[in-house]
Amino acid sequence: MSTTYNFCAGPAMIPQAVMQKAQSELLDWNGLGTSVMEISHRSKEFIALTDQAEVDLRELMSIPSNYHLLFMHGGGRGQFSAVVNNFLGDKGKALYLISGSWSKAAAEEAVKLTSDEQIERLNIVENNNCINTVVMPQLSGNNDEYRYLHYCPNETVDGIEIFEDIDCPWPIIADMSSNIMSREIDVSKYGLIYAGAQKNIGPSGLSIVIVRDDMLRLPALPQSSIMDYRLGVKHGSMYNTPPTFAWYLAAEVFTWLKSIGGVNALAQVNLDKAKLLYDFIDSSDFYHNTVAVKNRSVMNVTFYLKDETLNAEFLAEAAEAGLVALKGHRSVGGMRASIYNAMPLEGVVSLVSFMDKFASSER
Ligand SMILES: *Cc1c(COP(=O)(O)O)cnc(C)c1O
Repeated sequence: MSTTYNFCAGPAMIPQAVMQKAQSELLDWNGLGTSVMEISHRSKEFIALTDQAEVDLRELMSIPSNYHLLFMHGGGRGQFSAVVNNFLGDKGKALYLISGSWSKAAAEEAVKLTSDEQIERLNIVENNNCINTVVMPQLSGNNDEYRYLHYCPNETVDGIEIFEDIDCPWPIIADMSSNIMSREIDVSKYGLIYAGAQKNIGPSGLSIVIVRDDMLRLPALPQSSIMDYRLGVKHGSMYNTPPTFAWYLAAEVFTWLKSIGGVNALAQVNLDKAKLLYDFIDSSDFYHNTVAVKNRSVMNVTFYLKDETLNAEFLAEAAEAGLVALKGHRSVGGMRASIYNAMPLEGVVSLVSFMDKFASSER
């Protein structure tokens, strides 16, 4: 079998070592003679798995003890509504920073569940000469009373990442679906962090929520019990049957991450991968990128061919070379290489070498 490197934005690559382990124990997990999919989520074996997953994730992200961890249904978008229903009960207000497709979608969902008066939207991307730059607003002197500020530190579709901290007097909620555990962050700066699993954690169907204890005292709207953070905390994420197989795979990804040195070790590899690709794009007359250097995503590298009539040919030849899922999101066009934690450096080396060859081939 020839090597395939999968650049899909999500569901995305899962580390090969994890997939091989899952394959080897698919029919007989832990000597039980059955798969992990077919046992009770309340069995002592499964609870041991979830306990260990929590210990590992707390260690990987240095999560302080006043934060709860939830393993939930509903992906990233499920959290768009969950944060509203859990925190904006009695007509509270929230501020949404808009930096691209996903933060915009989160704000639209929030408005749908509340009202235009409750949700303040602030565009933080400036476009100058076709280059997108995030300009952080001054918020500390703002007298408005917001229950939280919501933002998306890595815009998966647009290839825009926000590295600077936000200076803000309200609790910060961050959608880290596409950059969780890609680099070290200080969890204590956030009121809540959420992430759909299918980019950097495991398979789809699972989302992870890290929520500071005091956030749970905010007033909630009546809502579906399975998306209620307080019930989730009370029941150890088992108010109803959780996505057990996805949880198991996520736990294996945590074990893998620890085995290769944790988030900090991987963050260096992630920087190396991104630098290799951006440096090549910048050095080329054939490709270009439209994001300011300070906001270029380390996880989702967007780029365009200068001659866009060659897009279909580029994608077809890339696929032939084992480099798949490079097509950009339909809303922005062009190309996108998603190079999450599970993408090895060799995958990016292989991509750059293909791009170089494609650019210089006779046609
Ligand atoms: C993929 C993604 C989502 C949506 O996730 P779903 O699980 O499909 O709901 C939300 N936010 C960001 C930043 C994403 O990358």
